[in-house]
Amino acid sequence: MGTGGSLVKGITKDKKLISIVLALLTFLFFLYYFSGFAYAVVVDGETIGYVKQEEEAHEAIAEAAEYIKSTYGLDASVANQVEYMRARPPKGRVLDKDQIKAAFLNSLDFKVSAASIYIDGKKIAILKDRTIAEKILNDIKSKLSGGSENASFKEKVEIKDENVSLGEVTDEEKALDMLLKSDQMTTYTVKKGDTLWDIASANGTSADKLMALNPNIKEKAMQPGDTIVLDKPKPLVTVVTKEVAEYEMPIPFEIENIQDNTLPIRVTRVKQQGVEGSKQVKAEIIKENGVEVARNILEEKVISQPVKRVVRIGTNRTLASGVFSYPVAGVLTSRFGQRWGREHTGVDLAVPIGTEVRASDGGKVIFTGRSGGYGILVKIDHGNGYVTYYGHLSKILVDKGDRVAKGDVIALSGNTGNTTGPHLHFEVRKNGVPQNPLNYLNK
Ligand SMILES: [Zn+2]
Repeated sequence: MGTGGSLVKGITKDKKLISIVLALLTFLFFLYYFSGFAYAVVVDGETIGYVKQEEEAHEAIAEAAEYIKSTYGLDASVANQVEYMRARPPKGRVLDKDQIKAAFLNSLDFKVSAASIYIDGKKIAILKDRTIAEKILNDIKSKLSGGSENASFKEKVEIKDENVSLGEVTDEEKALDMLLKSDQMTTYTVKKGDTLWDIASANGTSADKLMALNPNIKEKAMQPGDTIVLDKPKPLVTVVTKEVAEYEMPIPFEIENIQDNTLPIRVTRVKQQGVEGSKQVKAEIIKENGVEVARNILEEKVISQPVKRVVRIGTNRTLASGVFSYPVAGVLTSRFGQRWGREHTGVDLAVPIGTEVRASDGGKVIFTGRSGGYGILVKIDHGNGYVTYYGHLSKILVDKGDRVAKGDVIALSGNTGNTTGPHLHFEVRKNGVPQNPLNYLNK
C-alpha cells in the first residue's frame, strides 16, 4: 500500500514540473514572438517602412519639419494621412530614426504657408512669404519704370497667402524671370566687323528696333563680345507711371502767301521772315514700361508769340524770271565765239523747218521781221538790259509790242538768211553785248 502511495506521489511531482516547464516555454515563446513585432508606417495607404516604436516615427516627422524650417525658413505641416499598424516586419525592413526621417522627407507632402503672386487672377509664382513677393513686385516696378516713384501696375496684381506643397515654392530670381519673361530673351554676341544693320538684317529685325532694345549701344561703339538683345518678350506686367513735367516748347509760325502781279510767275519773295514763338508747358506724361503712351497738357503759358512768315508769290506770266530756257530742243551745231575767223554771236540749234520756237523767258517783243543775215528775226526784251534773238525763222507768230510768257510759242523755225541748213540761231545780249547763251540756259 505504501509503495503504491509513493508512486502516485512521484507522478504528481513530475506533472507539476512539466507544467512549470511548459509555462516557462510558453512565456519564452511569447516573449520571443512579441519581441518580433514592430509598427508599419503607412502613408496614404502605402507602407513606407517599419519602426520599432511609434514614438520614433513621431520624432522623425518633427525632425523632418525642423529640417525644412532650417533649410527653407518655412513652417511645414504634413498633408498626408499617416497611420501606424502593428505588424511583423519582413527581415531587414525595420528602420532607425534617421532612415525613417529620410523616408518621410521623400514621401510626405509637406504643406507650407507661402505667398502667391496673381496677375489678373492667374497664379504666376509662389514665394516663401509675402515680404519676398512684395519685394519682387517693387523691384519690377522700379526696373520697368526706370526708378519712377509714382508707379502702379496696369494689371490686377495680388499677393495671396496660401498653403502649398514645398516643391511649388520658387526662388526670387526665378519668379522675376517668370514675371519679366527675361528667360525668354534672345541675344547675340557681337563679332569683329559687325554693324548694327548687319545684325538686324541677319535676324529679320531693324536697326531701330535693336536700338530701342539696347539703349546702351547708342552711347558707345559696339565691341566684339558685347551682348545684343535681339528680342525681348513683353513682361507679364505693365508698369504705369505718371509724372508731371514742365518744359518750353516752340509755337510754329503761320505762312501767309500774297499773290503779286509785279513779280514773274512762280517767283517768290519773302516779305517777312517767320519767327517761332515759345510757350511754357506743364504736362502729365503717362508711360507704360518706360514708353510714353499719353501726354495730358495741364497748363500752357505763352512766352513769346510767333511772327508769321509772309511770302509774295509772282503771278505775272510775261515778266522775266531771270532764268533762260532752251527755245527749241535741237542739236548744238555751233557754239558762241570765234568761227572761221568771225565772231559767232550766239548758238546754232539744228531743228527741222517748222519747229515751234519758244520764248526763252518772259518779256516784250521789240522786233519782228527780216534783218540781213539773220533772215526772219524776233527779238524779246526781258528787262534789266537783257534781249534774246531768234533768227533764220520761217514764220513769226507774235507782233511787236506783245508781252510773252516764258515758254510761249513765238515763231516757227526755218532756213532764212545766211545759213548752211535749217536751224535756230539764238542769242542772249546784255546791254547790247552778245553773251555766251550756254552760260544762261538752264541745263
Ligand atoms: Zn548762228
